[in-house]
Amino acid sequence: MKIKKGDTVLVISGKDRARTGKVLDVLVKEGRVVVEGINMRKKHVRPKRSGEKGQIVQLPSPMDVSNAKLICSKCGKATRIGYKKEGDKKYRICKKCKQET
Ligand SMILES: [Zn+2]
Repeated sequence: MKIKKGDTVLVISGKDRARTGKVLDVLVKEGRVVVEGINMRKKHVRPKRSGEKGQIVQLPSPMDVSNAKLICSKCGKATRIGYKKEGDKKYRICKKCKQET
């Protein structure tokens, strides 16, 4: 998975296109990511006790990782990712500024 938790991504398709948000969760098996404020879905929460009111909360739901583009933490541009190997370590490199991101 090229995108990690805590990354900032740009949404490149769907109703939230051109918006950015922070990655809250990465679902590796499904190839999906949950991004803060993106792909919001209404969820009904049932009252826990009688007499309490049910609520509708908005939660971000997972989106396909192919619809997200990483925003480089170094140059701030939406970019593709490359990898660089140095000994046993593997770095994620921004294709635009060539810096580790
Ligand atoms: Zn960069």
